[in-house]
Amino acid sequence: MLHELSVHAAAEMLRAGEISSVELTEAVLDRICAVDNEIKAYLTLLPEEALAQAAAADRHLAAARAAGNMAELSPLLGIPLAIKDVISVEGVRTTCGSQILENYIAPFHATAVEKLLAAGAVILGKTNTDEFAMGSSTENSAYFTTHNPWDLERVPGGSSGGSAAAVAADECLAALGTDTGGSVRQPASLCGIVGLKPTYGRVSRYGLIAYGSSLDQIGVLTKDVTDAALLLGTIAGHDPRDSTSMDLPVPDYTAALRTSNARLTSDAIPCTAHASHRTPSHPRPPRIGVPREYFIAGIQPEVETAVRAAIQVLADLGAEVHEISLPHTDLALPVYYLIAPAEASANLARYDGIRYGLSVPGDTLWEGYRRTRGQGFGPEVKRRIMLGAYALSAGYYDAYYLKAQQVRTLIRQDFEVALRQVDVIACPTSPTTAFRIGEKAADPLSMYLADIFTLSLNLAGLCGISVPCGFDAAGLPIGLQLMGGAFQEETLLAVAFAYEQATAWHRQKPALVASSPTE
Ligand code: GLN
Repeated sequence: MLHELSVHAAAEMLRAGEISSVELTEAVLDRICAVDNEIKAYLTLLPEEALAQAAAADRHLAAARAAGNMAELSPLLGIPLAIKDVISVEGVRTTCGSQILENYIAPFHATAVEKLLAAGAVILGKTNTDEFAMGSSTENSAYFTTHNPWDLERVPGGSSGGSAAAVAADECLAALGTDTGGSVRQPASLCGIVGLKPTYGRVSRYGLIAYGSSLDQIGVLTKDVTDAALLLGTIAGHDPRDSTSMDLPVPDYTAALRTSNARLTSDAIPCTAHASHRTPSHPRPPRIGVPREYFIAGIQPEVETAVRAAIQVLADLGAEVHEISLPHTDLALPVYYLIAPAEASANLARYDGIRYGLSVPGDTLWEGYRRTRGQGFGPEVKRRIMLGAYALSAGYYDAYYLKAQQVRTLIRQDFEVALRQVDVIACPTSPTTAFRIGEKAADPLSMYLADIFTLSLNLAGLCGISVPCGFDAAGLPIGLQLMGGAFQEETLLAVAFAYEQATAWHRQKPALVASSPTE
């Protein structure tokens, strides 16, 4: 079935002339028609625009074939993708899962989207998200909850739950998401797919509607590690419009996969990854660190078993495994829930009924603000704005915000020390598999705990990936998280790829009841 293809498999078939992008895009649109009533991954669909982009891609392919320069084509040419609805696509409704932006039309493309379109990708639509990316289940979306393709009674994770479910249910070949505290990795884990959060500064945030600006990063949700490498290579790079994007060359991430050659032997890791602490004349296998603080009471036993088995697979492939410590791990949650809401309270001040989106008039300016924000924001967003404004207010700033920033430094230093001893850190992505819709909705604290293993990485600004590593007794997917140093995506991808080649978890598909008309 065409909709089941990975990006790299579809790219090969497009090049070989076995399929056209229009056929592929139609197949995926049919799939969406067949299953999205149940999954509810998309907030906005763009079938006409997608088919026009696909036709343009087919013309491009035909011209390249005639000119004999197929090798220069982007692997994303003609590939149908989905975009989380916090990322701007020019001329398209961009809601952020919020009532306040219900009718907001983005006036420009995010840089990541611009790069995808320049590569010839096809944009199918915008995917559901927790309101302003605040949440771990998509239940905070103002529109509807997305359902997990593995069990429709369960959440897909969040906040990029729409993108993760769309990939897992074959409603797109791959998708963009965003990760402020785990929102790419955690839904990838809960939906049994690959989710990569790049290093802070690797991908431009221009056109990503801000939640926590020092934490936000656009990431990719894909069917396998090769696709993650392809997408990252397309969207990464310096952007003068985002002053925090780094001016570093973008490596060929797929080359990292070729060198890993499915064995974690001495030349498995691209040499840039070791530049600071290894000389090429003394090559050795990658060192994997297992942080003892990530195997805590409360973790679902099947998750621990699957992750420990995955680490054994890495050892069998030739990696050296070491126990390590990230001693400030238990402080990541309180620190994150001071810093992220503080930044959110400032970022969301712009929704004032005057500049963007919803505007509810009042007798006074103040009354207009109160009504617009009162009606436009949902309860979780209001909770975060209040928490953040409180932490930033005079008299509390030093006790909360400043203290949180100081502890953030300690968390970052934990990683610096650990990543001097090891190349990659391995641990669970999420303490549990997908939970039931409604199970945590009334208890914000238990919802916050869903990201206990992912938040620290954003506080430290580093990169991480979640790859499928098993299933629990109920048949729900489990994710292995690999974390790496700043701009060490090649190392992460090489280790993740070697693991993926040695296992078959990523090939399993949810048995969705509905089947597409083409089946
Ligand atoms: N669940 C976390 C939060 O609610 C992380 C969300 C995210 O990464 N966008 O803030």
